[in-house]
Amino acid sequence: MKIEEVQSTTKKQRIATHTHIKGLGLYPNGNAVPLAAGFFGQAQAREAAGLVVDMIRQKKMAGRALLLAGPPGTGKTALALGIAQELGSKVPFCPMVGSEVYSAEVKKTEVLMENFRRAIGLRIKENKEVYEGEVTELSPEETESVIGGYGKSISHVIIGLKTVKGTKQLKLDPTIYDALIKEKVAVGDVIYIEANSGAVKRVGRSDAFATEFDLEAEEYVPLPKGEVHKKKEIVQDVTLHDLDAANARPQGGQDILSLMGQMMKPKKTEITDKLRQEINKVVNRYIDEGVAELVPGVLFIDEVHMLDIECFSYLNRALESSLSPIVIFATNRGVCDVRGTTMKSPHGIPVDLLDRLVIIRTETYGPAEMIQILAIRVQVEELVVDEEGLAYLGEIGQRASLRHAVQLLSPASIIAKMNGRDSICKADVEEVDSLYLDAKSSARLLQEQQDRYIS
Ligand code: ATP
Repeated sequence: MKIEEVQSTTKKQRIATHTHIKGLGLYPNGNAVPLAAGFFGQAQAREAAGLVVDMIRQKKMAGRALLLAGPPGTGKTALALGIAQELGSKVPFCPMVGSEVYSAEVKKTEVLMENFRRAIGLRIKENKEVYEGEVTELSPEETESVIGGYGKSISHVIIGLKTVKGTKQLKLDPTIYDALIKEKVAVGDVIYIEANSGAVKRVGRSDAFATEFDLEAEEYVPLPKGEVHKKKEIVQDVTLHDLDAANARPQGGQDILSLMGQMMKPKKTEITDKLRQEINKVVNRYIDEGVAELVPGVLFIDEVHMLDIECFSYLNRALESSLSPIVIFATNRGVCDVRGTTMKSPHGIPVDLLDRLVIIRTETYGPAEMIQILAIRVQVEELVVDEEGLAYLGEIGQRASLRHAVQLLSPASIIAKMNGRDSICKADVEEVDSLYLDAKSSARLLQEQQDRYIS
């Protein structure tokens, strides 16, 4: 496996309803643009978040974290995602919910650690050079210098890469010879060779090269033979967790590669602390060598009051680490117990952690704002909703929650289609609304009919 094949382990589903969010939508002076980057309304919180982005850029958030406090459905996740995107398009965003730490199989701190590593990106840069050259018959002396230490010769033709400046001295790997033989490369053929820091990685015929080597058509401008045809910087973005997972995979993970080839111990199935430390070592070396660069991302922990004191003390320590992402907490709770203790504290967060937090409040949306936000989602989901339908969805948003109203869009479009319409109308929305309970109504119903349920 090559580093290019390290699979991303990003949690895509969690952010599916926020795909329209592309940033915070601020003017250069920091004020909120009414409708921009997929955001509408929540202007004060967006502006405050913009300041936090500046603080992060100036490295003034080290050891600190952000708390988004506000009622459900006020766009806290959307704000956190917007912050991540303002920091850069390849900045990892890892959302989790506090209650995720309670699993029967895995320790709480292990869950937190995994998510921390999902939120730390690594940008790996490789310099690839592509040469164009003609296959020539070499003199015995030239052969000596090209083949160098490998001591391999090819039966009837000796392959060398003749360049305008003389014979190219590239470190040829035996597998490259095999490839050349397989391609039946003969004297006089023009071939392309891709090298990485002087070592040949791949060879190919000119026609196959463009696709094989992933060169964009317009980059494919032949230079004089033997010159460096093209230097291409290949950039690969992965997270530390992607690397952990790739190296822990029982098979396949064995030669993740060019990046970590040297540390592979086959048959690992779990991500252990030891494995993480090894990964960290290799990563640090690559950073020192300038091959890789850390990209701290955003770890978003929703319903932070669900974490207990043990998690909080872990977080306190983790925030101090030089390998920490930006941590954004969210809560809709006021003063409540810190889990695992009898202490009461604002948002259920211990005071020592509260001290390190920058707090932004989010406000409930009015009907007009909800309709605007719903209209953004309608557009992103490529749906059509008539005015009455949209207004009714807005009412549902007010009564239940914005999230509930957003979630009704897909089923409503199915109903509209079943009725032979492309456009969703009020009746469709009414129908799905009668089919699904929102969380509030469900809770109310349970309370009213308590005696009919097992408690
Ligand atoms: P919270 O964490 O506050 O409960 P959330 O961010 O997880 O909320 P909701 O606030 O329920 O999600 O948002 C519902 C939908 O509306 C999501 O798709 C979200 O991206 C979108 N949304 C919320 N606020 C805005 C806004 N101000 N502008 C545009 N879209 C928004």
